[in-house]
Amino acid sequence: MTEENKKVPITVAYGDGIGPEIMDATLRIIMAAGARIEPEVIEIGEKAYLEGFSSGIRPEAWESLRRTKVFLKAPITTPQGGGYKSLNVTVRKTMGLFANVRPCVSYYPFVKTKHPKMDVVIVRENEEDTYGGIEHWQTREVTQCLKLITRPGTEKIIRYAFEYARAYGRKKVTCFVKDNIMKITDGLFHKIFDEVSQEYPDIEKETWIIDIGAAKLVDTPEMFDVVVMPNLYGDILSDVAAQMTGSVGIAGSANIGESVAMFEAIHGSAPRRAGQNLANPSGLLLAAVQMLVHIGQNDVATTVQNAWLKTIEDGIHTYDIYQEGVSKQKVGTREFADAVIQRLGMQPQQLKPVKFGKASFNIKIKQTEVTPKQLVGVDVFLDDQVELPYDQRDPNKLGESLKLASTAKLQLTMITNRGTKVWPGGYPETFCTDHWRCRFEAKDHQPLNYQDVIDLLQSIHSKGFQVIKTENLYIQNGVEGFSKGQGQ
Ligand code: NAD
Repeated sequence: MTEENKKVPITVAYGDGIGPEIMDATLRIIMAAGARIEPEVIEIGEKAYLEGFSSGIRPEAWESLRRTKVFLKAPITTPQGGGYKSLNVTVRKTMGLFANVRPCVSYYPFVKTKHPKMDVVIVRENEEDTYGGIEHWQTREVTQCLKLITRPGTEKIIRYAFEYARAYGRKKVTCFVKDNIMKITDGLFHKIFDEVSQEYPDIEKETWIIDIGAAKLVDTPEMFDVVVMPNLYGDILSDVAAQMTGSVGIAGSANIGESVAMFEAIHGSAPRRAGQNLANPSGLLLAAVQMLVHIGQNDVATTVQNAWLKTIEDGIHTYDIYQEGVSKQKVGTREFADAVIQRLGMQPQQLKPVKFGKASFNIKIKQTEVTPKQLVGVDVFLDDQVELPYDQRDPNKLGESLKLASTAKLQLTMITNRGTKVWPGGYPETFCTDHWRCRFEAKDHQPLNYQDVIDLLQSIHSKGFQVIKTENLYIQNGVEGFSKGQGQ
């Protein structure tokens, strides 16, 4: 057997609800198209949850995933009630699936949509941002979620977006950020986008502030091709984009890691449609097409997708996309799969046929440069004045007494409340919570070390203030690595 013909083991989960029916249809189609795969079935989802595995996956299933590194997954049902963890999040985090890739394509006029020319791929960063789940109550009034944007994590997703564009013959990569507000975190994402894009002179690039970018995407999706963005924006906009194509029932997605990748439909297990031969298998089938490209069987992927396009174009539709006057035949899951199998080897006439190339992705990221980093101050967060009515909270009182806690090395320079400067020279109109960020900076630019911060904290504590946390202020490579107070 030649290397080309060698069967690739893949892990398959039939899932819950409509899962088994759409998985059966998908596997039948891709096997008939000549997929050189060896499925290894694992059980995940409702049954595993109810057996007491809180993440919906049995320990032995991990073994299969680690071995095959390719996971084709049908949707699962998450039981209602507390204590169950999202299986997707667990797999994504445990296996380091850093990219979520969701092609959102219109199949007009065969599938009804307000955006007939849409053909956008959303590439969402999948591990960072606010999704680290690092949240804390800070005071009795204030909660906090940590937004982490890292240099290696960002470089990986941006490189992936450009490599994807190259591999799939796409012309442009757009970056969505909000760096007019989050100058450091989203600013880093934007900066790395600019740096990495230099290495892809063949691909057009642009950056949009997310609010106007999202508005344009919803209004004129044909302006966009591949769009890359941090996790939270991507979570929201990938659902918006899929819905815009007319049906979430026909979109697939890939979750890609450095070694493991997971492919699935974007819809859920639709329990009310289960077992009735009704469900549309297209979302999972198109995810399987992405999987075939991923494992280098782009020839099979091309055959499957073109046969699927021809089926859609021939008006053979499941109930969810059936339209009187456009559709020719309403079919069930099995009959739809049969129709695709009959069309293997055919090309669509009206919809654009696909031709996938070999996708080899180079996402090797640079080692971080160890640049100079100098401690120049510290933000000390205090819990203060919760006992006072809102209109009697007094930043000046806090400022004047906290000033006395300054040390020989560190002096109080500013207090903010929810990011707005309230001392010195604040405005009485500014609403104050019980959470105060108090900035201490090096007196006369003296060099500092962490012992100076500890001495300051000792002094603040001894004066009876309640410290919640601190953030060190650094100058990194000559640039201030911290934001100013609003109004500073
Ligand atoms: P859903 O996507 O299952 O269903 C929403 C609607 O879309 C329903 O009306 C359904 O009939 C229809 N629909 C969905 N897929 C279809 C298909 N292939 N063909 C025809 N119609 C289809 O969303 P839901 O009802 O909110 O969730 C049901 C269950 O799925 C929940 O337990 C949820 O937690 C789970 N879920 C799982 C995943 C996943 O495994 N990745 C994703 C989303 C939801």
